[in-house]
Amino acid sequence: MENHLVEIKNLQKSFPVRRQKAALFGPKEQMLAVDNLSFHIKEGETYGLVGESGCGKTTTGRMIVGLEKPSNGSIIYEGKDLGTLNDKEFFPLRKDLQMVFQNTLSALNPRQRIGSILEDILKVHGVSDAAERRDQVVEVLEKVGLSEYHYFRFPHELSGGQVQRLGIASALVIKPRLIICDEPVSALDVSIQAQILNTLMELQQDLNLSLLFISHDIGVIRYISDRIGVMYLGTLVEEADTDELFNNPLHPYTKGLFASVPDPYIRKEQTPDFSGEQPVRTSDFKGCAFYSRCPFAMDKCVEEAPEFLEVSSGHRVACYLYEDEA
Ligand code: SF4
Repeated sequence: MENHLVEIKNLQKSFPVRRQKAALFGPKEQMLAVDNLSFHIKEGETYGLVGESGCGKTTTGRMIVGLEKPSNGSIIYEGKDLGTLNDKEFFPLRKDLQMVFQNTLSALNPRQRIGSILEDILKVHGVSDAAERRDQVVEVLEKVGLSEYHYFRFPHELSGGQVQRLGIASALVIKPRLIICDEPVSALDVSIQAQILNTLMELQQDLNLSLLFISHDIGVIRYISDRIGVMYLGTLVEEADTDELFNNPLHPYTKGLFASVPDPYIRKEQTPDFSGEQPVRTSDFKGCAFYSRCPFAMDKCVEEAPEFLEVSSGHRVACYLYEDEA
């Protein structure tokens, strides 16, 4: 039986927004950054989350590591619902669930040496012996392709690729089980991107890590992921094993997304391009998440959201066009 490391069920995250002058003094409208989101991450796999900017990928990652509280739904890890835990209850689990950000440099103290930054993380998590801390830090620096030399350097002395390696080291130093990688290579040159991705894949195999890899870059997601979830307007519209998704994309949004990539090795169908912007999802939103841009939208698409149904083994899609296949 598959071992699910993290199980996400009907997750929702809302933020208050005030969109109309007339409503200046009234109750704030709720914008749903994530809504009705369900998926799981298996032990030792890389799950890719792909979609346009603003579709809720980062908010999802932040909720899993406890940086945001879900408004509704659950995130089950080790039999506990993470969203219901207070800080004290969450703390022992925090070391298992780490995050690597797009801009690692902005999260680091520029006046602190790299060795000291990493040792502080170990101190917080109870490694009191100084020699042990130093050994662990040097070991993790070497694992991510840096070296003992960098122990005494400052973050600003590193190149862009080395900074992201340091970000991975910061996540790795306390031996997590899951790392959320939020666009970790999107600010890097293509050649450096490949090096970082290869490092992540090697580390994952050596340490049996699970990765949730968040990106808007289809090529990067395809390269690193075992399974992929396509996200649109705060929810998943399609999910499948990587090869299955690229060989047989079903949802009109997935097809449009693939059609927009200038890569001759990605299958493109004669799908009319979708135009316009991703709308804002508010609490009174109903219907299919994609109906406002979908060239195939029908009356019922506006009225009620389609279920997220399995059309073949492990391949799920939320679209009325595939209702009969499910
Ligand atoms: Fe388009 Fe309707 Fe399918 Fe949504 S359910 S993707 S609007 S056809």
